[in-house]
Amino acid sequence: MILVDTHAHLGDPQFDADRDSVFERAAAAGVSRIVEIADHPDEWARAVAIARGRPSGVRCTLGLHPYYAGLYDDAFLPKLRLALDAAPEAVAIGEIGLDYAKAEVPHDVQRRAFAALAAAGRGWGVPLVIHCRDAYADLVPMLKDLFPEKPAAGRFWGVIHCFTGSPEDAEACSGMGFALGADGPVTYKKNDALREGFRRAGMGAAVLETDSPYLPPQSSRGKRNEPAAVLEIAAKLAEVYGAPLEEVARRTSANAAALYRWP
Ligand SMILES: [Zn+2]
Ligand SMILES: [Zn+2]
Repeated sequence: MILVDTHAHLGDPQFDADRDSVFERAAAAGVSRIVEIADHPDEWARAVAIARGRPSGVRCTLGLHPYYAGLYDDAFLPKLRLALDAAPEAVAIGEIGLDYAKAEVPHDVQRRAFAALAAAGRGWGVPLVIHCRDAYADLVPMLKDLFPEKPAAGRFWGVIHCFTGSPEDAEACSGMGFALGADGPVTYKKNDALREGFRRAGMGAAVLETDSPYLPPQSSRGKRNEPAAVLEIAAKLAEVYGAPLEEVARRTSANAAALYRWP
């Protein structure tokens, strides 16, 4: 069985003491691929180095999290383009997005940065890793504007990472050609509506992620999360879809390969 953690922050200092054993435990749990996510330009080089150090199993993304959307200016896209060109390991732009829960950046500033970055990704043919918290009412219409038609067959425009929207948001985003990232919260007892969203979007849109070191699944709440935990998320999705775990592993891994164009 092969599993993919499509979203982790293993460059986080919380992993400095035991990063190698984290990768080993992931491999032991069947997690053969991990995508390392960079949220701030100061993290880009570190993410590329992590991917370059494990070329068979790790890729990375380069992004500007909505927390830092205030940094966006006219020089940003050329800088991002150069960084992508210099790093074949970088398979997507992200995290980018909208965060109305925690980010201190004004919403209009977040929307401007997100729209510019999403349009650039689309123009360049690079998939997006989208972060959205308490902002689906703005995100969904923006995506409809930016991506009025479906991606090419078997492709995704990007992923709504750590999807936490309503069942209707799940249908809207997957219907436009976005994958939905399932992580720890899908295993939390109270989150029936979230599981309903994944059920409605279908297995064809689901990818697994941990967002390590954040968002541990039910069995390790309160602890540091790590990629090996995608197994618990896959097991929960198997319940959601009424499918064998092996099928969930196979389908979500195929979706991840299509999402990041990592065959
Ligand atoms: Zn995020
Ligand atoms: Zn993240």
